[in-house]
Amino acid sequence: MRLRTKIVLTYIAVAVFGIALASFVSSWQLKNYLNRRTMAQVTAEVQTLADVVPGQAFWPDSTGAGAERLRRIAKTLGLRLTLIRKDGTVLFDSTIPRDSLAAMENHAHRPEILRAQSGRVGTDRRLSASVNEEFLYAAMRIADERAGELDSGYVRGALNITEIETLDAQVQTIIWIVGLLTIGLITVVSLKLSTRISEPILRIASTAKAIKEGDVRQRVPVTSADEIGDLAKAINEMAEKLGNDITQLRKLERVRSEFLGNVSHELRTPIFSVQGFLETLLDGAVDDPSVNRDFLEKAHKHANRLNALLNDLIDISRIESGEMKMSYRYFPVLEFLQQIVDEMKSVAERKDLRLTLVPSVDESERVFGDRERLHQVMTNLFDNAVKYTDIGGSITCSVERDGPWCVIRVSDTGCGIGPEHQARIFERFYRVDKDRSRDVGGTGLGLAIVKHIVEAHGGTITVSSTVGTGSVFTVRLKR
Ligand code: ADP
Repeated sequence: MRLRTKIVLTYIAVAVFGIALASFVSSWQLKNYLNRRTMAQVTAEVQTLADVVPGQAFWPDSTGAGAERLRRIAKTLGLRLTLIRKDGTVLFDSTIPRDSLAAMENHAHRPEILRAQSGRVGTDRRLSASVNEEFLYAAMRIADERAGELDSGYVRGALNITEIETLDAQVQTIIWIVGLLTIGLITVVSLKLSTRISEPILRIASTAKAIKEGDVRQRVPVTSADEIGDLAKAINEMAEKLGNDITQLRKLERVRSEFLGNVSHELRTPIFSVQGFLETLLDGAVDDPSVNRDFLEKAHKHANRLNALLNDLIDISRIESGEMKMSYRYFPVLEFLQQIVDEMKSVAERKDLRLTLVPSVDESERVFGDRERLHQVMTNLFDNAVKYTDIGGSITCSVERDGPWCVIRVSDTGCGIGPEHQARIFERFYRVDKDRSRDVGGTGLGLAIVKHIVEAHGGTITVSSTVGTGSVFTVRLKR
């Protein structure tokens, strides 16, 4: 069932229940009140009559004039007045002609008469056997002093209460007419109201469906500042996020396939080279002493390159899959850097490069990190400095404190990096000069690995460089 129908039906059901309740309660109240009032009235009138009537109506030779007076009194009071002798014989009834009295049933066992025997007013409510309408009866014993006896008879008053029912029926009718008109009004109003609620919800539903089917650019118009407006906003935010996630995923996908392409391309060159040199050797060059050694050395160099490439690839994949676990601890930074400088000495000397460590901290200065991985980082930076600096240049490593950071710089007087390349050299396989990099045995993965490791430490790495003058790589680590 549609939300709108549900709302309208609920309103109508509530309204019908309300009307029925109002009708029931008002009917009960009205009848109760009128019955009590009428009964009190009849009782009071009968008591008064009982005081007035004795001695006049009970004479056996009661004249027509006396009967006429009683009829007038009854009419004035709006009562049916009956006088009944102690034995139950009806002596007078204001609604029955004198001649017919003899034919009337004996009234000794009427409930109100039986109840009046105690001396108080006896009452009853029932359908009158003679006129078939509902009556309230009140009877009281009266004494005829002349007869010298107390229980000489009863005066009884009866009031037709059919009009109470009629009045009640009229009130009910009015209540239901007004009620049904109200229901009509409620239906119209609730239809309008529920349309206002359900329309935007339907719009939201159709937009959500469109988003589900892939159209993440769809947005719901936010037309109100209420709960529906909030829902619309939430849907829009969700779509926005979904859109961003999808863009991100597509980007990742692209990067991934680009990377795969690069990897295959990078692997192909050394493999083909090794293959080529070996084939040439097998084809006979192996017996030619002027080239055989040279070819073997070249094949060996490419095999080494292949090995370096695979090692870097394994590192990258272990870092990215989270498989490379770091074990962090504090260790003295000067001693650490001195060790690397010592290790690099022989490599630097081969190119006649001056390698110096400029410490601005004391021996106790410590840095926080995985010593082995940071060793890999520093070796890589020194390696690059050696690779990209011409013979006779110099490489300087400095270390200093900067608030919570330990700042390590590796500077060289090498070829430098143009500003357009500086942001990209940390990307995988990005090389400023491919041939030069290959010549010096670079894989294009070194700085990508370095950046990964430094960032895993919560640190940063930046470069500043001038072409032809040299480069400075700055690493910040927690101390
Ligand atoms: P590679 O294995 O090619 O050296 P890296 O990721 O280590 O790869 O470096 C990426 C590129 O950044 C290098 O190819 C080179 O062009 C440039 N580069 C890195 N370090 C230096 C440096 N000290 N001086 C000049 N260029 C550098």
